Amino acid sequence: MKFAIIGSGPAGSSAAYYLSKDGHEVVLIDPKGPNEKTCGGGVPSKSLGRFPEFYKDFIPAETLLEDMVFAFDGSDLCEISMPQGMGIFSRKNHDNHIFQKALKEGATYLQETFKDCERSEAGWIVKTNQQELFVDFILGADGAVSRVRNKLAKKLPREAYFKAIDYLVTHPNLPLHIGFDKKLNGYLWVFPRENNCSIGIVDFDDDQAQRMKFLDDYLARFNVPESEIVKKRSALIPSLRKQDLKEHEISGENWALVGDAAALAEPITGEGIYYAIYSSWLFADCLRKSEDYNKRWKSEFRLIVQEAHISRTSYKFLNRGFIKFFLKRSSLLRKMTGEHLAAFETGRTHRIKFFMSLPLIAVQALFSKSVKV
Ligand SMILES: Cc1cc2nc3c(=O)[nH]c(=O)nc-3n(C[C@H](O)[C@H](O)[C@H](O)COP(=O)(O)OP(=O)(O)OC[C@H]3O[C@@H](n4cnc5c(N)ncnc54)[C@H](O)[C@@H]3O)c2cc1C
Repeated sequence: MKFAIIGSGPAGSSAAYYLSKDGHEVVLIDPKGPNEKTCGGGVPSKSLGRFPEFYKDFIPAETLLEDMVFAFDGSDLCEISMPQGMGIFSRKNHDNHIFQKALKEGATYLQETFKDCERSEAGWIVKTNQQELFVDFILGADGAVSRVRNKLAKKLPREAYFKAIDYLVTHPNLPLHIGFDKKLNGYLWVFPRENNCSIGIVDFDDDQAQRMKFLDDYLARFNVPESEIVKKRSALIPSLRKQDLKEHEISGENWALVGDAAALAEPITGEGIYYAIYSSWLFADCLRKSEDYNKRWKSEFRLIVQEAHISRTSYKFLNRGFIKFFLKRSSLLRKMTGEHLAAFETGRTHRIKFFMSLPLIAVQALFSKSVKV
């Protein structure tokens, strides 16, 4: 089959890799190619271990972090160990690595912009800013505000997204941490990387000016001059709610969506690189086995998506510092949080385990000393 894959981020490039490997003809279309996207670049170890075809020859040991620091109101710190660590990568390097694998498997790349598509007798006519292509199948991997999805499926409401801002800073020595603050309805991250640092906020509230002011004030604490802020960017991250799930279709006759275009991102953290690759793997697997991708997605992702409403309330607790008391005193709570961050333990099982552990967490909180870093 001949595929047009729109978007060469982790979803598009990994899909191009799997489909080319399976003998399909693949054209990857993206005006930018791999670039330094608006993103923290954090990839949990679950993803690194799950996809050795992309990561086994990529991860430099020094970019694997074993501990994450939680900061409350900018100062009160608590260290969380993550089993097997988390990689924090430059998106340009990360995406380029997967992109090159796809090209090596035989995919071709067009540096063009997808504009529109219409059905032809045999398949699709894909219209870019430069030409028309005839293909059998369109795979939309064009990110959170996907033109392919808006054309072929239902547009997502704004409420089904996290709102995010991200500053790319050249300052190399900022302290790695995730920040919680009562002014936020989400969280803040400071992720130092090889050559730069990503500092940003994901939040459910729609007040962009307030978010930027908060980040400007936060950066001022680290004495980062304006000249070291290379870019200030805003973006959306899908965070499906239960009500979105009912009508959310990610495939149809000779088309499908993967990654952010399919709105697949973790609802509590907003991390989507793992789901971008996973959904592409799932799509290719369904194609091989002649299974219905839409059905399989729903059965595999339903529980994750149902967490969305929980994430929206959990930030209220986290940001009000209520949880800080318990995190700093309970080693069990720190362990479970680390497992969640490393994405080894998520979903209903993790939730049940968490609720069953509450009495022990409470006992530890009452009788243990507070940890400090
Ligand atoms: C501020 C922020 C921080 C984040 N931090 C993290 C993190 O630390 N860890 C994590 O796992 N996830 C993070 N995410 C989420 C992560 O960035 C996405 O989930 C991930 O990039 C999804 O991959 P994708 O391939 O589906 O889409 P993308 O990476 O967005 O790729 C889409 C591609 O489509 C191309 N495209 C768009 N329109 C067209 C068109 N019309 N024609 C052709 N090509 C087109 C774009 O150029 C782009 O290359 C963050 C997101 C944001 C906004």
